[in-house]
Amino acid sequence: MDNVVYKEVDAGIVEALRQIVGENNVLLSAEDMEPYTHDEVVGLRANPEVVVRATQTEQIAEIFKLAQRERVPVTPRGAGWGLSGGAVPMCGGIVLSVEKMNRILEIDKENLMVTVEPGVITGNIHRAVEEEGLFYPPDPASLDSCTIGGNIAEGAGGPRAVKYGVTKHYVCGLEAVLPSGEVITCGGKLVKNVTGYDLIQLLTGSEGTLAVVTKIILRLIPLPKVQIDLLVPYDDFHAAARTVSAFIAERILPTTIEFMERDSILAVERLLQKEVPFHDAEAHLLIQLDGNRPEAVDADFEVVGELCLRHGARDVLVARDRPTRDRLWEARRKIIESLKHESPINHMEDVVVPRSQIPALLKGIKDVAEKYKVRIINFGHAGDGNVHVNVLKDDLPMERWEAIVPAVTEDIYRLTISLGGMITGEHGVGATRRRYLPLALDQAQIEMMRRIRAVFDPNQILNPGKIFP
Ligand SMILES: Cc1cc2nc3c(=O)[nH]c(=O)nc-3n(C[C@H](O)[C@H](O)[C@H](O)COP(=O)(O)OP(=O)(O)OC[C@H]3O[C@@H](n4cnc5c(N)ncnc54)[C@H](O)[C@@H]3O)c2cc1C
Repeated sequence: MDNVVYKEVDAGIVEALRQIVGENNVLLSAEDMEPYTHDEVVGLRANPEVVVRATQTEQIAEIFKLAQRERVPVTPRGAGWGLSGGAVPMCGGIVLSVEKMNRILEIDKENLMVTVEPGVITGNIHRAVEEEGLFYPPDPASLDSCTIGGNIAEGAGGPRAVKYGVTKHYVCGLEAVLPSGEVITCGGKLVKNVTGYDLIQLLTGSEGTLAVVTKIILRLIPLPKVQIDLLVPYDDFHAAARTVSAFIAERILPTTIEFMERDSILAVERLLQKEVPFHDAEAHLLIQLDGNRPEAVDADFEVVGELCLRHGARDVLVARDRPTRDRLWEARRKIIESLKHESPINHMEDVVVPRSQIPALLKGIKDVAEKYKVRIINFGHAGDGNVHVNVLKDDLPMERWEAIVPAVTEDIYRLTISLGGMITGEHGVGATRRRYLPLALDQAQIEMMRRIRAVFDPNQILNPGKIFP
């Protein structure tokens, strides 16, 4: 993007790609390529010139050598469920999909490690290891659609981050293809490893701008035996937020503490055409506790339930079995879909603040909504300070909408940063947030990151148009 001139994909390049991956894995028609023009960001699209579905590491290495020779951009892609435009080919060229590299290669019960290809759907890893009594905790809400490669690239999080951390805390080994076509293998089935710079952590969260990940070794832990879920309605959001601080002060660390504002619950009701319990409450907390000993989890449950009621909860609904749990979680899982149903044109942010600043953040966001006369609905991860802020177009005229979105976004970012936060907690900078990077990071950091990128990819053929302003 930085004034780089790329070559168009011509017949010779297409033929070379066919030689590498086979005829069936090269897509050229507009219809076949349409799914690869976008991710889940509303309204962001760009056309690839060709889509290639790789099945082996060696093919990806050959594709990079070709792309380097010809100066054609390459955009890696998992399932296209990203929320920052990371997989959208902003400069055209080749979309390199790893969707067919979708094998779980080994579950190693002795070392508590699973080895997978990047195109495996994350939920399939969960199910496979849970059958063996093991646990891979990171659980993006999109887990039945997104790939583990996309999770590594985005540094994905999820509700269980409160207790168990995010994707980067579980990656022990990576095989990756550099833009030069070289294949590197970092780490292994190693719980400890400080041999040289930590390239695993550098690649994790690099948003597909440094290398394409082709094999992943993830750390597992034993599957907790007991789980209790609570849905807790409040009439006052601040009371809900104070409860979260009270858990931590009591040294209880729930697995998840999610929150949903009333407007998000009402949107889910309209989508599902059915009533959510206590739908008139100003806010709901959704809390999960887990552990191995039923007595210990029950003891935490008693304290948590009591703290909720003491801080003004209207009730505490409990689920101890799967069907009841699924009912409690249904509303949370349907929020993004419901907001799209409410207003097909909308804008989603992913800001993160220190947990204790959530009330100040939500109050400030209400002020922003008031200032621009726009509807904003929030939900997210109260336990880790990550709030998904949804600005809805509703029936605003398009001209007004296009004028206010950047202003609303900037106000929200400035507010977040003033509270000690950052502009994205788990969705990444990608194409949609790159112009705002200088609000969050100083020039010296951005320059350092640019130089790191240039070491990996001096010709900027890998995923141009992402992260950097
Ligand atoms: C309804 C919904 C709920 C969501 N919930 C969450 C959530 O709870 N937590 C969360 O963190 N995110 C969430 N997301 C965002 C999204 O699912 C994650 O960012 C996910 O990691 C994207 O994976 P993907 O396979 O779809 O990646 P894609 O969208 O295909 O790609 C994402 C980025 O990864 C790069 N990439 C993909 N594969 C590779 C590879 N093998 N090597 C190198 N780079 C690669 C791409 O170039 C791109 O930059 C949600 C999205 C939706 C739509």
